Amino acid sequence: MPKLRLAVIGAGPAGIYASDLIIKAQRDFDVSIDLFDLLPAPYGLVRYGVAPDHPRIKGIIRALYEVLDRGDIRFFGNVKYGVDITLDDLKRHYNAVIFATGAIKDADLNIPGIDLDGSYGAADFVNWYDAHPDFPLTWPLNAKQVAVIGNGNVALDVARILVKLPEDLLSTDIPEHVYEGLKKSPVTDVHVFGRRGPAQVKFSPLELREALHVNGVQSIVYDEDFQFDEGSQKALESNNQIRVMVKTLQDLKENPQPPQERRLHLHFFHSPVEVVGENGKVSAVRFEKTKLDGTGNVVGTGEMVEYPIQAVYRAVGYFGSEIDGIPFDRKYGVIANQEGRVVDSAGSHIPGVYCTGWIKRGPVGLIGHTKADAIETIGHLIQDQGSWWKPIEPDEGQILNTLRQRGVDFMDWSQWLRVDFEEKQQGQRRGRERLKLHDRKQMMAISKEK
Ligand SMILES: Cc1cc2nc3c(=O)[nH]c(=O)nc-3n(C[C@H](O)[C@H](O)[C@H](O)COP(=O)(O)OP(=O)(O)OC[C@H]3O[C@@H](n4cnc5c(N)ncnc54)[C@H](O)[C@@H]3O)c2cc1C
Repeated sequence: MPKLRLAVIGAGPAGIYASDLIIKAQRDFDVSIDLFDLLPAPYGLVRYGVAPDHPRIKGIIRALYEVLDRGDIRFFGNVKYGVDITLDDLKRHYNAVIFATGAIKDADLNIPGIDLDGSYGAADFVNWYDAHPDFPLTWPLNAKQVAVIGNGNVALDVARILVKLPEDLLSTDIPEHVYEGLKKSPVTDVHVFGRRGPAQVKFSPLELREALHVNGVQSIVYDEDFQFDEGSQKALESNNQIRVMVKTLQDLKENPQPPQERRLHLHFFHSPVEVVGENGKVSAVRFEKTKLDGTGNVVGTGEMVEYPIQAVYRAVGYFGSEIDGIPFDRKYGVIANQEGRVVDSAGSHIPGVYCTGWIKRGPVGLIGHTKADAIETIGHLIQDQGSWWKPIEPDEGQILNTLRQRGVDFMDWSQWLRVDFEEKQQGQRRGRERLKLHDRKQMMAISKEK
C-alpha cells in the first residue's frame, strides 16, 4: 500500500485535529505523521492563550493529549519551521505538509500615542500570564486605572485577569511569577471600551456573564449606552446569543451591583482616537463618541471624551505571522489558500502544501471551529494524492538524522510527558493541579532526566 509521509507544522488544536482526522479518514494509503512545534510544549493557544481561570476549556488539552498519547503521531517539540527545518527538508522527507501555525501577535491599532510607555498589546499580556517561554517573566502592573480596547472575548479575558483578586487564581495553573505580579497590582478600575453597542458585541454569552460576576469586583454599565437601531433589532431577533447578552447587560443596568474596591466598567459607543501621554507615559485615552447609523454600524458624533488611565491594552484581534517560503496574504494575516490548499499569486495550488486553523482562515473562532477547518483541508489532501511530493529520504529515521546532524535539540512525546509530570508534581506540592514551567532550557533539561 502507498504511504503518506506527512509533516504538520504547529501542534495547536488545528495541527492535532488534522493529524487525528487523517489517521481516522477513509483512505487507500498508509499514513505516518510527524508533528512539529517551535515550543517544547504541545497544544498551542489552548495552553498559551486560553485564560488560566477557564479550566473547562483548558480541559480540551485532555482530549488533545489522548490523540498524541496513542503513539501513531510523532511529536517534535522545540523545532521551529524556517529555522530548524526548511521547506527543502520537508520535500526531502515527506509527501506533503500542513501548516497549522496559528497566530501569536496582536493586530495593529493605528492611533497616535499607541507606542507610549504603558500601552500594551493584549497578546503580549496573555503570553505573560500564560507563561509563554519566549516572553519575559515580569509585567509592569502599576496602573490604578486601566483601559482595555475591544469587544471580543480576549478583551474580557484581559480585563478579568487584570481585575480579579489574585487569590482567586490560585486554584488554576498560573505560575508563581504571575501570581506574585498580579498580587502587587494597585488596580482599582478596569474600563472596557467598544466602538459599537450592546447588540453588536463580539463576546460570547458565557464569557460576558462570567466577567460581570467576578468575586470582589463591582461591574458597571451606563444608561446612555443602551441604544438600539433597526440593525440592532434585526440582530436581536435573529441571533439568540445577542439576545442573551443584551439581556445580561440590561439586567445589570437594572440591578446595580454593590460597591467594591475594584470595578469593571463596560462602555459602548467609544471609538479610540488617541492615547494621551505625559512624559512619555500613558496618562489618558481620548475617544470619539459614536452613534448607530440605522444598520447596526456606527458613525462618529464629533463629541470627544477623555478618561484618565495609566495603562491601555489593545485587544483588537490577533494577526498571523508569515511563514518562510510560503505565500502570505498580508491584508488578512493568513497563508494564501483556497479551502486549505496553499496557492501562489496566480491562484494555483502549490502541490504538497496545505494549511489549517487560524493561519488558514484568520484568528477568529473557537477551538471547535478548527476541527471543521481540518476536515476540509485533509479532504483536499486526500483527493490530491496524484500531486504529492516524491521524497528522496522518506524513511522515518531520516528526519531524525537531519535534525541531529543540525544539532536541533528536539523534545519527543515521552520527553514531553516528563515535563508534564514535573509540572503536576510541582503543582501538587503546593496544593494545585499543576504549576506551569516557563523556562525553555529548564523544560528541555527536565525532558532528558531519566
Ligand atoms: C487569548 C485567547 C483566548 C482564547 N480563549 C478561548 C476559549 O476560551 N475557548 C475557545 O474555544 N477558544 C479560545 N481561543 C481560540 C483558540 O485558542 C483558537 O481557536 C485555536 O487555538 C486556534 O488553533 P490553531 O491550532 O490554529 O492555532 P494555535 O493554537 O495558535 O497553534 C499554533 C501552533 O503553531 C506553532 N507554530 C507557530 N509557528 C511555528 C513555526 N514556525 N514552527 C513550528 N511551530 C510553529 C505555535 O507554537 C503553536 O503551538 C482563544 C484565543 C486567544 C488568543
